[in-house]
Amino acid sequence: MAEHEIFSLNRLDRDPNNLLRLLVIIGMAAMLAILSLTGIGIYRQAVGDVLHTAEDDAVRIASVMVEEHKEYLFSRGADNVALNPDGIALFNEQVRKFLHPFEIVKIKVFDLNRVIVYSTDAQIIGKLVVENPRLDRALSGWIDSQQERKDKVIDLAEEQRFDVDVVETYLPIYNADKQVAGSFELYLDVTRYRQEINQRVTVSLLILGSILLFVFALSYVVVYLGARQLKNLLLRLQQMAISDPLTGAFNRGAILNRADEELSRMERRSAIETGNSLGVIMIDLDHFKKINDTYGHQVGDQVLCEMSRRVGNCLREYDIFGRYGGEEFLAIIPDVDFPGALVSAERIRFELTKAPFICSNHTLAITASFGVTCCYNPVEGIKNALRRADEALYQAKEEGRNRVVGRDCSADV
Ligand code: GH3
Ligand code: MG
Ligand code: MG
Repeated sequence: MAEHEIFSLNRLDRDPNNLLRLLVIIGMAAMLAILSLTGIGIYRQAVGDVLHTAEDDAVRIASVMVEEHKEYLFSRGADNVALNPDGIALFNEQVRKFLHPFEIVKIKVFDLNRVIVYSTDAQIIGKLVVENPRLDRALSGWIDSQQERKDKVIDLAEEQRFDVDVVETYLPIYNADKQVAGSFELYLDVTRYRQEINQRVTVSLLILGSILLFVFALSYVVVYLGARQLKNLLLRLQQMAISDPLTGAFNRGAILNRADEELSRMERRSAIETGNSLGVIMIDLDHFKKINDTYGHQVGDQVLCEMSRRVGNCLREYDIFGRYGGEEFLAIIPDVDFPGALVSAERIRFELTKAPFICSNHTLAITASFGVTCCYNPVEGIKNALRRADEALYQAKEEGRNRVVGRDCSADV
């Protein structure tokens, strides 16, 4: 039962390399997640910096502008922003001159009624702006900046610019009593920061990516070595589970399992129709007890090993051979008929007797007795065949040993 359980492990997918595959999948997913999140974080931070700088610039430019052009902005008294239509042309000229050194593409001036009283874009002067929360905030005294990408803008020099990053800043205009009197909207061109931001994100991601890759590669090597050790261990365990520790041949459980597999194969191939069968040869060393008693147990062990080696030499690659117990061995010969199985047994017998065994300087004439049968019907199972082989082996012993006795049963199945 235990042998069968261990043997069935073979069929399960317990490959330690699965650990590696799992590590690669998890590692790649983690790396992708870390890099994406970090990339977004760094990008936001960089854009935030640009917004801050642009906001500061906008505040500085606007306050100087208000200070220098007070007489135009507050033309109808000191309280609210209002431009005298006669003065607009001059104001426009002065404003453009003033704004010339800065990266400003457009400005708007709103009065408290949300009417655009001035803009570098003359077409929108006089327009009433409704439902603009950002303007509302500015008219309540708050500064509000936001970055946007514009496909096309017309700058102060009336030239078209394409694919431009602008920071739109709304900020309040205060009168002499420090009360909000209107609002400025400035479009600051920050396209020149774009490359800098991209560069900052790329360099950061490259550094982080390299560190992650190094850590990942290190973990991969550690897990790879661990998995290889585990795999070797598993292989050794599997090997130990199916082999006889003294001779290295299959143990009893493994032979029976392999025999069952052969029978299933035979069933699949409809062996009855093709006339093939499974040869079963039971081998028992003659007077082995005497070897032990005369030369010692160690020499006995050497004889068992040499016997196993010789039998292995004269079997085909797909024949199954193992130690059935004590000094008893079993050979399963697929795809032979009964005469063929007898020939195989004779070949093994000859291999054992053709030259003496040399064990610890002792020259030993070793012989064995053979019980041979065939299993024609897969449904019959190996059990009956083993019983017949055992009976034939008993007969071989009875008849004087060192001989092959067969018991065919094609008639009774
Ligand atoms: P027979 O010709 O009738 O088979 O006689 P035998 O002496 O070979 O058979 P018997 O069953 O009387 O003795 C088998 C012996 O095999 C007894 C046991 O001590 C020995 N034996 C079983 N396993 C081992 C082993 O692993 N190593 C050694 N050295 N001897 C073993
Ligand atoms: Mg014996
Ligand atoms: Mg025996």
